Amino acid sequence: MAGIYSEAAEFESDIIAIRRKIHLNPELSYQEGETAALVASTLESIGVRARTGIGGNGVVGILNASSEGKCIALRADMDALPLEEMARVDFKSARRGVMHACGHDTHVAMLLGAAMLLKKHEDELRGPVKLIFQPAEEHGGRGGAGPMIGDGVMDDPKVAYVFGLHISSEYPSGSFALRSGPIMASPDSFRIRVKGRGGHGSAPHKSVDPVFIAANVVSSLQGISSRFIDPVEPFVLSVCSIHGGTKDNIIPDEVTLEGTIRTFSARTRSRAKSLTSSVAKSICRSFGAGCEVSFMEDAYPVTVNDARATARVRTLLKKMGSFGVTDAGLIMGGEDFSRFLQKAPGTFYFLGTRNEEKGCIYPNHSSMFTVDEDVLRMGAASLAEIALNFL
Ligand SMILES: [Zn+2]
Ligand SMILES: [Zn+2]
Repeated sequence: MAGIYSEAAEFESDIIAIRRKIHLNPELSYQEGETAALVASTLESIGVRARTGIGGNGVVGILNASSEGKCIALRADMDALPLEEMARVDFKSARRGVMHACGHDTHVAMLLGAAMLLKKHEDELRGPVKLIFQPAEEHGGRGGAGPMIGDGVMDDPKVAYVFGLHISSEYPSGSFALRSGPIMASPDSFRIRVKGRGGHGSAPHKSVDPVFIAANVVSSLQGISSRFIDPVEPFVLSVCSIHGGTKDNIIPDEVTLEGTIRTFSARTRSRAKSLTSSVAKSICRSFGAGCEVSFMEDAYPVTVNDARATARVRTLLKKMGSFGVTDAGLIMGGEDFSRFLQKAPGTFYFLGTRNEEKGCIYPNHSSMFTVDEDVLRMGAASLAEIALNFL
């Protein structure tokens, strides 16, 4: 066997063409209908049976289905983000205000590339391989993994190991980054309504000013990280939006704050949530305002990689070719893949795409985000390599 990375050269142009097609037609969370149809038709065209409508727009392809061996699942996410693309590429988003700025277009293309490679080697697979194309990863709450799991994607045959790949401009092109144990945070969104009493801007003593009180809430919330949470514990609290008021001389009735809390442990998570609530309420009470605090339900759990599976993947990637295989740091972002990892051990790893010469220097979620397409072949080969050699 020539090696899966060399073999992947045969499919490189297909992978890039699929990626560009999806990039041109990005779809937001829960609206991935065209992408899902493209995935299903591509799978069928290479002879892989595809099931659609799993947990919404999810698609599942299965290889070597009749095998009694252990089942491995590989996952890609399909959704784009609500921002206007500013990057100068020929296949720039044709949809205003929607862009594949997190590289999920590349994830779909790489997993389809892996499917092409695996189809050629189907008789060498030691068990069934499920190819999971999930919707709504960027949603942050209900997401797409949970509904797919609810529809049985991890059962029948039961998934023994699950793997996912994310493209990232944090790491240089031509390298992989892995980490055993917790890798990505749990992202809890909150909303705080500061309920004052409006009035004339010239007479604040006759009102309860929610703008002033909200400003105090924002600064006091930072005291949670500096005064309550163990300094060696990873923790972030950010207030990211403030809304209230209509004019320079009207004190409004109400101000709404929204923000996010990122944690890595269940204890810190529940403590941070209850402190956010108590600090906001007591500041509001001390200035005479009412206060409502709510948290988005179903926030993603912490993404926890299995130590043995991660070590095994690290060895496989090193053997696959002369790529950099480095250690990933903790990431305060959240990932819906965490839910698959609650059902089966596995690992979520990164493929670097930072390339100064090609101008691929902007972070994921930037309107200028671009990808070094030369790495897509590596990503596709890595997924196929795992499926062929993990067990
Ligand atoms: Zn993202
Ligand atoms: Zn992403």
